[in-house]
Amino acid sequence: MSECLYAKLANLRRKQAEGSSLQWGDECRQPTLLITYRLYNNIMRKAYRYRLYPSKSQVTLLEQTLEICRWVYNDTLALRKDTWEQEQRSISLYETNKILTQWKKDRPELKRVHSQVLQNVQMRVDLAYKAYFQRVKAGEKPGYPRFKGKGRYDSITYKQSGFKLDEVHLCLSKIGDLRVVFHRPIKGTIKTLTIQRSSTEKWYASFSVDYEPSSAPQKVAVTGVDVGLESFATLSDGSKIENPRFFRTDEKSLAKAQRRLSKAEKGTPERKKARKIVAHVHERIANRRLNFAHQTSRQLVNQFGTIVFEDLNIKNMQKNHHLAKSIADASWNMFITISQSKAEEVGSRVILVNPKNTSQQCSKCGMIVAKTLSDRVHSCPHCGLVMDRDQNAAINIMRLGLQSQG
Ligand SMILES: [Zn+2]
Repeated sequence: MSECLYAKLANLRRKQAEGSSLQWGDECRQPTLLITYRLYNNIMRKAYRYRLYPSKSQVTLLEQTLEICRWVYNDTLALRKDTWEQEQRSISLYETNKILTQWKKDRPELKRVHSQVLQNVQMRVDLAYKAYFQRVKAGEKPGYPRFKGKGRYDSITYKQSGFKLDEVHLCLSKIGDLRVVFHRPIKGTIKTLTIQRSSTEKWYASFSVDYEPSSAPQKVAVTGVDVGLESFATLSDGSKIENPRFFRTDEKSLAKAQRRLSKAEKGTPERKKARKIVAHVHERIANRRLNFAHQTSRQLVNQFGTIVFEDLNIKNMQKNHHLAKSIADASWNMFITISQSKAEEVGSRVILVNPKNTSQQCSKCGMIVAKTLSDRVHSCPHCGLVMDRDQNAAINIMRLGLQSQG
């Protein structure tokens, strides 16, 4: 599970870098990364996520809605599949929307769901198809879009209508007034609302918002940032962001929960319970690390106009099976992604550079000084520079970043 969650995060970051649009809720079941990205001209899109506190009867309604949406998803998929197999013809989104009207007559319970929400379900099928054909075209061998099993449909999306909000409630069409804590105000124009059920059965509302960023003057200060296991990050001026203590304790409780899970016999209630505990620990880790990434990147962006990181997509091409390392990778990915997003908001820039030799090269004379992971000090026999190894790397990273900008 950890592999897949963290791979998803890395994938999300790559997508963001490519500038493609993100599917909230669908792409990443948890945690939701609150990413800002530029849409066009000066308009930016941003997501705000809040925890919802539905009553018992509202949970029942939400669950029913998800189940109806799952049915529409699977039937739309089946329809497109059959038409393709029997007539070698692909159905458009528009055609499926028209058929939906007929389905509503045959199955009155569909009327219990807001019409835009159902249309969005069909749009998701359409996107799944488009992604599939794009990959086929690129010569890959992707899996055919899949049917959603029971309990595997986790989110619904409203497009601009069907919901209203006041200070403490979110009113959803056909569901009711849900209690919500708006811990920070929404700024901008709301474009979509996605209601998500997390893997631990918590409910969230994600608003996707368009806004025009304020044109703050750009700061001139520059820094290189080296991320590592020893300290979370080291800046080129030698200052460090230490790993908070909860990193270690969370990893220990995850390892413990996973041990218990692997010991539990398949198909037993113990196993089910153990799996639930693992999911909870994962969620806690993801949330705490996300908060940490928000705080630390905020500090960086407040201080520097240009921030240079290593491109971790180059560094970590190989899959990592070591748990602590894979969690750390995910944390650095979050940290860099969120820094990019916050920098974008205030008109600062984030540069990613090739990590080759950043830790081996001497930042003063440029010679290669070989060292192993356990060598904590860079000591150059050529020019005599003695420096913390991570700071030496951070200075190299900063230099590469500035060079890449010409
Ligand atoms: Zn040197």
